[in-house]
Amino acid sequence: MKELQATLVRPDLIRAHNLINGKWQPAASGKQFAISDPATGKVIAQVPDSGPDDARAAADAAAAAFPAWKQALPRERSDILRKWHAAILANGEDLARLISLEQGKPVGEGRGEVAYGASYVLWFAEEAARIYGDVIPQQQRGKRMTALKEPVGVVAAITPWNFPLAMIARKIAPALAAGCTVVAKPAEDTPLTALALALLAQEAGVPPGVINLVTTSREQAPGAVGDWLADERVRKISFTGSTPVGKYLARESANTLKKLSMELGGNAPFIVFDDADLDAAVSGLLTSKFRNAGQTCVCPNRVYVQSGVYERFAELLSKRVAALEVAPATDESAQIGPLINDRAVDKVARHVDDAVTHGARLLTGGKRLPALGPNFFEPTVLADATADMLLFREETFGPVVPLFRFYDEAEGVRAANDTAFGLATYFYSQDVRRIDRVSRQLEAGIVGINEGAISSAAAPFGGVKESGYGREGSRYGLDDYTIVKYLCQGGLQ
Ligand code: NAP
Repeated sequence: MKELQATLVRPDLIRAHNLINGKWQPAASGKQFAISDPATGKVIAQVPDSGPDDARAAADAAAAAFPAWKQALPRERSDILRKWHAAILANGEDLARLISLEQGKPVGEGRGEVAYGASYVLWFAEEAARIYGDVIPQQQRGKRMTALKEPVGVVAAITPWNFPLAMIARKIAPALAAGCTVVAKPAEDTPLTALALALLAQEAGVPPGVINLVTTSREQAPGAVGDWLADERVRKISFTGSTPVGKYLARESANTLKKLSMELGGNAPFIVFDDADLDAAVSGLLTSKFRNAGQTCVCPNRVYVQSGVYERFAELLSKRVAALEVAPATDESAQIGPLINDRAVDKVARHVDDAVTHGARLLTGGKRLPALGPNFFEPTVLADATADMLLFREETFGPVVPLFRFYDEAEGVRAANDTAFGLATYFYSQDVRRIDRVSRQLEAGIVGINEGAISSAAAPFGGVKESGYGREGSRYGLDDYTIVKYLCQGGLQ
């Protein structure tokens, strides 16, 4: 812990406690669990291993704080969110280091995540003052009908490890903007950034009980979160994570019929048509695939290349991938860091081995890099991928590009849509009529057209099919945190 604190300008950003009702406190059981640096496997901190008692205390605080926060003027909520945004940017370098240390992404990407996560806080600070309802055109004399938007209530935010700052910021910011209070649980692997973010929120003036954060180990998560699922005061779950856990949360919370936002797994296709600008397509693929060592929900998982440009594209791509710099996150030259843990590396190795066994050609990479640390894997390109390989059906979540071949547009689109998921898709083409046709046919919440960088606080982020429902960011993002109340006033003549 001391070693970690020594790397920060503000060592007090490392919190070893839960935040409940404005107070930093240990788990009721006194238990803790260890957080380790994925690059080295070394333990860097200990945080509370919370259980149902802590979760309930957090929900008690959020429920008690809700009436006053709901009634704060939108402009007052907006001002506090702006202060939080400023505090995140002012402590950006420390936060970037924390992200890199606990998550493993290169520190340059950590800085990018701070800016990206902060942009959601600013966006929703601005939207807080623009939550309009409707005055419905009069239907009967003497009657006025109005639709108001009200905060849904206490929100449970449950987030993954791949964006330790951005995922929690883009849930808490809209919740607070709408007038909701929050109970949150970050992922086991990456709670430190979330705790630091909560401290900055507290310093920005978020009142006690409005944000409550508990940390848990993987073993304790079902117990702690289970308390929220059964608690009728918790009116909404905003979850980002894997599809099986999303389905579990939806099932287990059904008894209290909560509003749900489910940002789940992806299996993104990336299509390169014969008429694409190949250099742009290679650059777009590098951007979208290798961010966070391939551990993002919008990472292309299956790359479809039309037969006329297949070999040329494979050659251009392999050269660029082989040149990527793999190094620990703290090394400023790193472009690819370690994967999050040994289970992640095992999955990537299994996908590569299975593909090669089923006839894939290894163009570059393909191996673990134990000399760098326990969780490093080479950026990899595989040609001749087919639908009977594991990496066709499952999210690899690592630095592996499988190239599938297709012959015509209809086949390419059919193959891209041949998945239970529908989060992001990408395609490269220079034919305007094809761009229009294909954009409409792809089954996904997000379509990148001649572009690999698609995320923005101003844009609606979310999926279809088993990638979930709900949208984060944009002017639609507040809808997930509000309910519509209809007022019908009579006797007005
Ligand atoms: P995960 O295993 O589903 O975990 C996500 C969160 O749920 C973590 O906080 C986890 O806690 C918690 N959790 C897991 N099992 C639980 C249970 N039984 N009860 C209560 N909470 C539980 O996902 P992950 O491995 O962290 O993240 C990777 C996945 O997230 C990928 O599928 C990726 O595509 C998806 N993702 C989606 C988006 C999107 O916007 N659509 C964005 C980013 C990531 P523990 O860490 O303690 O297990």
